[in-house]
Amino acid sequence: MVEDQQPKRRRTVPVSIGDVVVGGDAPVVIQSMTNTDTADEVGTAIQVADLARAGSELVRITVNTEEAAEAVPHIRDRLEAMGLDVPLVGDFHFNGHKLLERHPACAEALAKYRINPGNVGRGARRDTQYAQMIETACRYDKPVRIGVNWGSLDQDLLARMMDDNAAAKQPQDSRDVMKEALIVSALESAERAEEIGLGHDRIIISCKLSGVQDLIEVYQDLSRRCEYPLHLGLTEAGMGSKGIVASSAALAVLLQQGIGDTIRMSLTPEPGEARTTEVQVAQELLQTMGLRAFTPLVAACPGCGRTTSTVFQELAGEIQTYVRDRMPEWRRHYPGVEEMSLAVMGCVVNGPGESKHANIGISLPGTGERPVAPVYEDGEKTVTLKGDHVADDFKAVIERYVERRYGSGTVSSDVSSG
Ligand code: SF4
Repeated sequence: MVEDQQPKRRRTVPVSIGDVVVGGDAPVVIQSMTNTDTADEVGTAIQVADLARAGSELVRITVNTEEAAEAVPHIRDRLEAMGLDVPLVGDFHFNGHKLLERHPACAEALAKYRINPGNVGRGARRDTQYAQMIETACRYDKPVRIGVNWGSLDQDLLARMMDDNAAAKQPQDSRDVMKEALIVSALESAERAEEIGLGHDRIIISCKLSGVQDLIEVYQDLSRRCEYPLHLGLTEAGMGSKGIVASSAALAVLLQQGIGDTIRMSLTPEPGEARTTEVQVAQELLQTMGLRAFTPLVAACPGCGRTTSTVFQELAGEIQTYVRDRMPEWRRHYPGVEEMSLAVMGCVVNGPGESKHANIGISLPGTGERPVAPVYEDGEKTVTLKGDHVADDFKAVIERYVERRYGSGTVSSDVSSG
């Protein structure tokens, strides 16, 4: 359930990306990135559609070659044919100035450009190439994310700052200089973009690092020094639980401090794993923090020696999958259902108590307990399930509850025991 006591958000200037607003009073926006070859317009459109349907409100695609730039408007058309208007963000490095100039249809089809100031050329060419990209953004009225990454930090800027630091009376630690260089790169690039003509409300900033503490420190500092909306993400977070834990730890601390207007979980998918996992994790992070609600979450106890079978784990998994699968339809008919909470508990120790705190909870029998499963709805025991069809019976209870609580019709709460 979205909690009343949300952290106070840092004040930022709202930026419109197509129909999606990032910053200001807008909720924290979830975004993701494809890993297909953008030149493969069919494959990329399918993956963008998957990510959008999973809940990604912006999807970034790399635009790295002439073929990729050529494919972008066709990807946009394919998405529209699928009824999807998710804004596409173009990720540019090294040759973005040329691609945007040579492919006006690409420049037009994208809803935002991501520019990495460390990857727009070196020396004198850097300034003109950066200016060219910003001028294109102005011409097509597109917002820009100035996305600094410590793996591709502007080397000229870093060298200059390292030299200044070495000459200082009390030199700072070189790691601190590097962190300051990330922020200076982002803020100077934003200032330059505004000088060229990009609106103050057309700029989003990110400064990504792969260390949790470093990332937190940089964003805290950045948030004090500008009012641009901030895109949060731990770069190269990694695979599996490591990536999820590292990203969640970093982003949760910042979100709790009201810092961050859009997030991306940079997770490396396991072989064969759906790209959409990063969207699901981002949703779960925002929902468990009480910042937004997307899909009813199932609380489950971890199990212990009192549960000698896997019945309750299977039921918890089955119910979470069930509500996720039902959401597309529920969302259409039952506004507010995403805030529903469920609990699947393993025994009588905490089962009834936890179940009573959820909208719907079920307490399964632990070892040696009577083989019955009381169900609680809004804190009241309504039915006791037993027999071989507890999962199906519990799903029926959930369906009736959803219809009664979030629908307009009145439905009986009676459910037969199995
Ligand atoms: S609710 Fe029961 S089964 Fe679950 S962890 Fe607690 S004691 Fe163990």
